[in-house]
Amino acid sequence: MVRVTFYGGVNEIGGNKILLEDTEKSLLLDFGFPYKRHKMFFEEYLSPRGAAGLLDPLTMELIPPLKGLYREDLQTPQFWDNFKDKSQYRTIENIDGILLSHAHLDHSGHISLIRGDIPIYSTATTAFLAKAIQDSGKSGLDQQICYYNPNKYDIPAGWRQSSYTSDRAEPSIQRQFRLGDIDPSLLNSQSIDFWSVGFWERSARQKQMDSRSLEKSDLSGFNMKCFPVDHSIPGACAWAIETNSGWIIYSGDLRLHGKRPELTREFVEQAKLLNPEALIIEGTNAGRDKNASEQDIFINAMQAISGGDKLIIADFSPRDIDRLLTFLRVAEEYDRNLAILPKDAYLLKTLRLLDLNIPDVNENDNLYIYQKTTRPSDLWIRNLATDYERKTILADEINAAQDEFILCFSFFDLNELPSIRPAEGSLYVFSSSEPHDEEQEIDFRRLHEWLRHFKFKSIGLPEEIDGKWEIPENETGLHASGHASGTDLLDIAREINPRKLIPVHSENPGFFVENLSGDDIEVMLPSPGGSIDI
Ligand SMILES: [Zn+2]
Repeated sequence: MVRVTFYGGVNEIGGNKILLEDTEKSLLLDFGFPYKRHKMFFEEYLSPRGAAGLLDPLTMELIPPLKGLYREDLQTPQFWDNFKDKSQYRTIENIDGILLSHAHLDHSGHISLIRGDIPIYSTATTAFLAKAIQDSGKSGLDQQICYYNPNKYDIPAGWRQSSYTSDRAEPSIQRQFRLGDIDPSLLNSQSIDFWSVGFWERSARQKQMDSRSLEKSDLSGFNMKCFPVDHSIPGACAWAIETNSGWIIYSGDLRLHGKRPELTREFVEQAKLLNPEALIIEGTNAGRDKNASEQDIFINAMQAISGGDKLIIADFSPRDIDRLLTFLRVAEEYDRNLAILPKDAYLLKTLRLLDLNIPDVNENDNLYIYQKTTRPSDLWIRNLATDYERKTILADEINAAQDEFILCFSFFDLNELPSIRPAEGSLYVFSSSEPHDEEQEIDFRRLHEWLRHFKFKSIGLPEEIDGKWEIPENETGLHASGHASGTDLLDIAREINPRKLIPVHSENPGFFVENLSGDDIEVMLPSPGGSIDI
């Protein structure tokens, strides 16, 4: 028998934390950050206290009370006495690994709290992106997915209260990533050695790490299979695990309408051949019928921009490299330059280590890096500014040639507009998703005010009509969801044809019950913190 316990990702989009146990092995399927529950208690200026170690996330039930799973440097020996009465409390003796489906934080974020010696299985792209996202992100506890500085627990001078503080004297500890998709022989080749020295083995501060580093994955030891799939971040994969009860498949996040649908199709084909006992499948868009494809977006963006002779801003999700490349194509067609932010340039530079089809900012005539007014102290960003010195572009230079640029900004970059002084009638192309909660709605109201102030025209931007946020009817088709439509999800489920299907990562899991009742697939709905025996 196999027991699968759902500590996150139930009735919510993201936050997947799934524990799979049979007699031989215990594996975690993702260990994501639970944005929905986090936002119930916290906001920007009220956040879990890193100095309190594991106390805040455990008390507020953002992570399950599993003794033995978490970093030793975030807890004292007596720490668990306060959590012994919790219903989900138990001691975890051993976890063989975390199967990470992709580098979005709602799947990877809480790996930051897990013991550093537990290996993480992922694709090479996910490992590299996870590190690039950490390098170029904030340095808080929630970001420490690839490496961390161990904390010490002591009383700071002039204070009475003990707290956890990072011990800068100690070397950073790097988590062990084991790659599921790259031919292990490649890992020993010179090129991989080169990458690891240049990129993998140093932290964002260029500090040498106690590197347990990139290793080839011994998938055969567990009998697991890694299937790359298409999603809104490169490197996403699904997993298949052979257990005492047969093969169990975990979809991660996937879609059939992005730039690499053939990967998802190949996964479905191969998963079907395994004759699986169970399929744990994402259901973000369960109930939603159709998705625009990435190619539709190219065509629609071409149309939206046509004839424009002012500045264009393209707003899309961070880390959506496919969308960035779509807008690069649009820029090339219109003989404009695409100005991207340093964090996107850092991701491109990272991805190019694995895929030479990714453009090199220095070589590509149409790519520039926008340099903001405030000079940040981060080393990665200053190094990047040196590497791409001749390809950085300033606000004044954009001001002087507004019809020559597409600027990749989102809401949080708008305070650069006073320096850019966009001409009246500049265009804001919104290529991202609608607001999902009240906080985001407030930001959208602010976004509208900024655009009104600078007399922008906009396209694809959700508007508030009778308390509901919707994209004007004739302006849709500028955003492609990262997730398969309801119809595609049902096709995937029927094609793989598992005996049991467990929906996760969905606010509408009943969709699968309603639609698969006529098929020979038993849909089992997980409950938060509950187990399903397979
Ligand atoms: Zn995702």
